[in-house]
Order: sequence, then structure tokens, then C-alpha cells
Amino acid sequence: MASLPHIPDEPERNVWDVVVIGTGMGGSTIGYALARHGHRVLFIEKGPLRSETNVLPIQQGGGPIDDSPEARLTRGEWPQRIAGTTSFGELEFFPPLGCGAGGSTAIYAAALERLHPLDFRPRANYPDVTDSTLPDAWPIAYEDLTPYYDEAEKLFRVCGTPDPLVDGGPCALREPPHLSAQDQYFHDSWTRSGLHPYRLHLGCEFIPNCEQCLGRLCARNCKSDAKRICLMPALERFGAQILPDCEVSRLEASPHKVERVFCRWRGREISISGRIVVLAASAWMTPALLLRSRSESWPEGIANGSGMVGRNLMFHAGDLVAVLPRKRGAIAGPVKSIALNDFYINGSRKLGTFQSLGGRMDWGMVLWFLRSAADKDPRWWRKLTRPLLPGVAMIAMSYFKHAGIFATILEDLPYYDNRVVPDPQAKSGFRFTYKYTDELRERNNLFRERLAKALSPQRMIILSHENNSNYGHVCGTCRFGEDPATSVLDRNNRAHGLENLYVVDASFFPSSGGTNPSLTIAANALRVADAIGDRPHTARARQ
Ligand SMILES: Cc1cc2nc3c(=O)[nH]c(=O)nc-3n(C[C@H](O)[C@H](O)[C@H](O)COP(=O)(O)OP(=O)(O)OC[C@H]3O[C@@H](n4cnc5c(N)ncnc54)[C@H](O)[C@@H]3O)c2cc1C
Repeated sequence: MASLPHIPDEPERNVWDVVVIGTGMGGSTIGYALARHGHRVLFIEKGPLRSETNVLPIQQGGGPIDDSPEARLTRGEWPQRIAGTTSFGELEFFPPLGCGAGGSTAIYAAALERLHPLDFRPRANYPDVTDSTLPDAWPIAYEDLTPYYDEAEKLFRVCGTPDPLVDGGPCALREPPHLSAQDQYFHDSWTRSGLHPYRLHLGCEFIPNCEQCLGRLCARNCKSDAKRICLMPALERFGAQILPDCEVSRLEASPHKVERVFCRWRGREISISGRIVVLAASAWMTPALLLRSRSESWPEGIANGSGMVGRNLMFHAGDLVAVLPRKRGAIAGPVKSIALNDFYINGSRKLGTFQSLGGRMDWGMVLWFLRSAADKDPRWWRKLTRPLLPGVAMIAMSYFKHAGIFATILEDLPYYDNRVVPDPQAKSGFRFTYKYTDELRERNNLFRERLAKALSPQRMIILSHENNSNYGHVCGTCRFGEDPATSVLDRNNRAHGLENLYVVDASFFPSSGGTNPSLTIAANALRVADAIGDRPHTARARQ
């Protein structure tokens, strides 16, 4: 086969300085930082390395959706369904998860927000919840991450305005484009009611005719996804290489070290060696890979001495909320534009954030919403009503045409029994168990009540199904911590007991916070790159 740029001909013949598995937010960011510092980095990515020219226009709402693995990969989506046992019943659905260069950020909505300083001491925020595995504190403080938040905001070219309710937040945000008349109306009327809206922090260039392709692939190098910002510069400027369409199946480790990474590439199994191995295959796949990699040295799976790999699975709870304005305004302008955190820390209760969803209530959007609600509902008649959804969307659209569409993000707490387990029979190679607790339901209801009161006299309509778990914000399945008995990774995201294995995807979160996770994943990956760079074998930084 002819050589392709950035793709090594014989990857097995090298011992790479760093092998990074997965090119999503965590993987691309750390690979970029390490390649920039002179390490020879090899990325391994299950999905394709698409070019902008083969990004297809978005499939519009009404027709049948082609859910073949090939079509899904072309759209940047995870190709297989995943299955889980949840308190809502047995579910099987396509996860909101990216696959291919950039991982989930290729299709994300690019809201790049910091966690709140109090998120780093989570236990104190829930004094009455005794059955959760919430730790007292993260092993790092907000202040440890601050310089990396600054760096990540610069790197991902985040625009927005500071959140007036947080001291010491971002100080170098780019200026956002003007609000639409409708969003200006929401912004002003909420300010008059004593709330504190601000311009949502967003990674988007807003180039002329920007399509604001939030939730889908961007064909115009405009969205700050991990491919554009980190992966391509690592390949093109800093000599990193990549194996695309290459799925890692397992790792092999001695008692102290990962020795080899096995993957399927171009129809055969190959094994790759790296001095350092970084797992960043998402909080679904990373624990599944570790648990699947059993051996004499690691009978319960690699890095699973504590039995914590795969446990403490978290999402966020999140409602879709339509707010009907009392005065109609023009809607042309940025769609993901405002946020407020008045309910983040709300008296004695910690709730979460409220932000523009990032889309207009057109037919495609309503249909997408109805279909994903149906996926989260295991009742048999839901499947039968699927063909009716385009018509229902048409009726709903006329009602919601002038509504502002917002989303809540509410912290999910970690529980020992909420977990990912490998399943060789499942197409994705794993399944999950998840209980949506009464505590979460009660907190979610409280958030709804407080919002409705605060936004009044505008009318607020909750559009979500009872199961409002945001599976796209999956995290927590390889938590970091100080104690090897209760955590998988140390404070620098290195697996306890293994000298060369790091995990930098969203698995490391020991608590989920109440806002979008990606900026924290990126900032932490930059921090871990520095920690790796401080080790003795570090290569010299390139200019
Ligand atoms: C529709 C949508 C909208 C979102 N909007 C936002 C938002 O606005 N703001 C925000 O902060 N977050 C958002 N998120 C969530 C955000 O995208 C994720 O939290 C983040 O990308 C997770 O980063 P990660 O590194 O953990 O994994 P990912 O970004 O998911 O990357 C994992 C990568 O690993 C690869 N991989 C998996 N298994 C293997 C294997 N066996 N071998 C090789 N490669 C493998 C995958 O193909 C993928 O490329 C959104 C998510 C979705 C789906």
C-alpha cells in the first residue's frame, strides 16, 4: 500500500515515545502537547481520519436515517449500539459519542466552561448523601488547574464573557459575536429579574456564513474541535503519526508496565510498543479495554487492583427547556449564546448550569429530539410510534417556532454499582448498569421548580423524557485519587502500580461537576503532559 502522510508504514517496528489511544478531547490534547515537546507520538484511532472535503452535509430530518456503521462513521458517530440495564429498563441505543479524528468533539457543541472551584471539594456539597462514593476532594485543587484552564482557553480559542458569579475565572476570552434580538431580550429580561446571564464560553471562530454546526461535523475549520486544534497540528507541525481505522482490542502488561498494545489494522492484528501508553478511548471504552485485558499479572484487568475500574459511572442529568418569550425578536445570530449559573450553588443545594442548547427549533431539531427521547424509553410502543414522529415534529415545530431552547446540566453523583463491564457478546464490547437515584430525581425537580420561578413571567416548558441522563457527558469510570485502594489513577493520572500507563479521557473525573466537561478534560491533559514531560527521559522541546 502506498505511504500516506502521517501514517507509518511499519508501526510495529518502532518503540514509540508515547502511544495515545483515542483522538478525542483527552487524547488529541495530550498528544499535541507531548509532540510539541519533542516526543515521538503515535495516535491510534478506531474511526477514520476524515478530511474536511468528505464531511457530508447534515442529513435533514424527515427521511429514514441511515444507521449502518459506515454511514454513522461518515457522520462522525459511534458505529455500534450500546446496551445497558437502567432503572428505566433495558436500553439499547446509539450512544451520543464520536468516533474518528477528534472523537466526540467532532460532533460536540463546543461549550467550553470551567468547573466551579467548589466542584473540587464535592463531598461538602452533598452532606446528606451517604451512599454515594463522592470523595471529600479531588487530588488536585482548582488552583492547580488554573494555569492549564488559561492555556486550554487560549488553545481552543474560546470566546464569551466572564461569569459574574465566579471570582478568578477566565481572563482572556475572545469577544463573542452580537446576540440575536431574541437572545438579547432573554439576556436583558433575566438581568432585570436579578439573574446573572453571561455569554456562554464557546470554541467557535464564527467565520462568515458559519453554520454553527454544533452537534454535528464542521466542514469549514470553524469549530474548535480536538482534531482541528490539536490532532492536525501534532501531525503536521510536530511529527506525530497516526493509525486511523485501527481498533485497540487489549493491552498486555507485566506487573509494573504496559508492554504492548494489540489492535486490528488493515485486516490483521498488530502489536505496538510505547515507552508511555496513554488511554483516551472515552469513559465507556477505556474501562472496557482495561477490564478485558486480564492476565496472570492482572487477573481482574489492568490497573484494577482496587476493583474500581469501570465503577462510579456518571452522566449528567439534563433537561431540554423551551422558554416562550413574551416579546418575539429576530433569531438571526449565534445559537449557543447565553448561560447562567445562579442555580449552580443555590443556598444549601448545589444544582447546575442553564445554557442555550445550540440549535433552532426547526423540524430537524424537533425530530432529532423526539427520536432520542424514544431511544431512552424502553416501552414497546415507542418503537411502533417511530414512523409518526416526522408528523408530530411538524406540529410541535409550529408551536415552538419562537421559543428559545435551553438545556440544564445537573451534577450526577458517583455510585459503586453504576458501572461499565466488558461483554464479548455485545457489538461495542461492553454493557453498562446505571441506577437513576431518587436523590437525583428530587434535585432535578428542585432545579426545574427554581428555574420556572426565576424565569417567570416567561413560560418554560420541559421537553425532556423522564430519563434525562445526558449519555454524551459520560465520565468517572477510572477515577483519580490519592488512595490506590479507592481510585484507579494517581494525581497525575498515572495508573496506580504501573509506571507507564496514563488515562486522560473523561474517565478520570471523581465527581461530575455541574457543567460541560470538555474544557476540564483538555486542561487536565495539558497538566498531565507537563507531569510526563518532567520525567527523566523527556525529549527536548521543539520550536
Ligand atoms: C452531541 C454532543 C455534544 C456535546 N457537546 C458538548 C459541549 O458543548 N461541551 C462539552 O464540554 N462537552 C460536550 N460533549 C461531550 C464531550 O464531547 C465529551 O465529554 C468529550 O469529547 C470526551 O472526551 P474524551 O477524551 O473522554 O473522549 P472522546 O472525545 O469521546 O474520544 C474518544 C476517542 O477514542 C476512540 N476510541 C474508542 N475506542 C477505541 C479503541 N478501542 N481503539 C482506538 N480508538 C478508540 C473513539 O473513536 C474516539 O475518537 C458533547 C458530546 C456530544 C456527543
